[in-house]
Amino acid sequence: MNEQIKKLNGANMDIDLATPIDAISWPQDPCPWNEAEQTNEHKCAIKNVSICPYFCGVAYIDTLLCCYPHPNPFQSEGNAAS
Ligand code: SF4
Repeated sequence: MNEQIKKLNGANMDIDLATPIDAISWPQDPCPWNEAEQTNEHKCAIKNVSICPYFCGVAYIDTLLCCYPHPNPFQSEGNAAS
């Protein structure tokens, strides 16, 4: 990683790929877990509440990294919670 960029723990994030398309003005890929279950209940990170077990982080600027339906490779490092 670029040495000018720090990794800072403990961010309180609020991220989803489940916002109704008429509520946002940008294209959004659907959550594959929601698609598989024909629901809209799964969120990547809910502020103050939870982080999806398939959440693998974000890439600049707003790309979600998702491992669904595979085991989270970061979970053993303690970087993701359910
Ligand atoms: S991390 Fe993946 S499976 Fe989990 S809510 Fe986000 S898009 Fe869906």
